[in-house]
Amino acid sequence: MSEKRVKLQSTLSGREFPFDIIEEFTADGESLEVVVPEITGAKIRSGRFLWERFADFLPFSSVDSGLSLGEGNTPLLEAGKLLESYTGIRHLLLKNETVNPTWSFKDRGSLFCVRMAKEMKEKITATISTGNMGNSLAAYGARAGLNVLVFVPAFTPSEKILAMNVHGATVIKVDAPDYSLMKNKILGLAKEFSLRIVSGNGPIRVEGYKLTAFEMFEQLNGRVPDFIAVPTSACGHIRGIFKGYRELREAGLIERIPKMIIVQAANNSPVVSAIKQGKNHIIPFSNFKTVAEAITGGNPAGGDEIVQKAHRYGWLAEDVTEEEIIESHQIFARAGFFVEPATATSLWAVKKLRDQGKITPDATVVLMLTGSGLKDMDILRTQPQSTVESSLSTIHADLHRILNRNN
Ligand SMILES: *Cc1c(COP(=O)(O)O)cnc(C)c1O
Repeated sequence: MSEKRVKLQSTLSGREFPFDIIEEFTADGESLEVVVPEITGAKIRSGRFLWERFADFLPFSSVDSGLSLGEGNTPLLEAGKLLESYTGIRHLLLKNETVNPTWSFKDRGSLFCVRMAKEMKEKITATISTGNMGNSLAAYGARAGLNVLVFVPAFTPSEKILAMNVHGATVIKVDAPDYSLMKNKILGLAKEFSLRIVSGNGPIRVEGYKLTAFEMFEQLNGRVPDFIAVPTSACGHIRGIFKGYRELREAGLIERIPKMIIVQAANNSPVVSAIKQGKNHIIPFSNFKTVAEAITGGNPAGGDEIVQKAHRYGWLAEDVTEEEIIESHQIFARAGFFVEPATATSLWAVKKLRDQGKITPDATVVLMLTGSGLKDMDILRTQPQSTVESSLSTIHADLHRILNRNN
């Protein structure tokens, strides 16, 4: 067991559980979070890796760097003129998680999931995923010498499956009438098979995402942004970033915590709809279609925690239409950033919130660039092509025309 006296606590009712239980949620559906003792006395240490410098905040006494694929250390950049004028936000920053080893922020959580498997001396680890999560866990499993099982729904495109297979993961394609039904059935088998099935919102994964907050704290020299916009599905990412800032405040390292902005596609907005309607529970969505494939959790386990945190901490929530996602994707690309459609949602969302006056003009806003555009090229078919057809006999004349030069 871990040398620290770490435990898990349910996030709504505060019930306590042992750190090493295999389930990621309570039987009645609450998310669990890691409680590390004595956070109030936590200090930043020296060390080459984030997990060394912030070891006092983490459930593990150490992390073997041999498990890492070099995740994190991602750039925090000024968004630049085009995106600033598009959104009307002068202090707009981009946290570019697309440069992680498998091109999404999931890698930060996968490192901690394989670290946990090692702690528990497990030889095999599993997840249910249609994309980035399966890809990331497959890569980290390969690095750690673990067998990885990925359960995918039957509709998963073959390129996505290939990206998991290439690392040696066993992909199990499950025919089921509905993705949520499939998830529940498989999660129900975990105990019988002693199989730790990690989800996008598990307590250990969230500890990995917490490091993103610590990294931004260092990058901004201890300053705290006013808002952080996060495209949200399973809710693990947003909860990890927030937990990181909350713990920095508990440790007395910062005085205030940023407000989170929850962003979802209008066609699938179980969390955002609940917040806008003043409800305390998510509103499940099913049978929807959206180009934002990486954020298609229609009934996220533990989502109520995020709804209730939004009310309690005054977070913002906004949804965006398919047209808005496609336009944002294009604007990001024009600014030099090739992101997933799911990632693009945040641009229009903050633009709307700025137009409504919910974000003031002088606020500092961070957009989390969650995943790379290379993962999902279908959307490009909706965008204008600018290829010029030429040949050896016409190239001279063509260049004259393109460069607008007279003969
Ligand atoms: C997983 C993912 C999200 C959503 O994160 P959650 O932790 O599931 O809320 C957003 N964007 C991309 C690219 C993702 O892969």
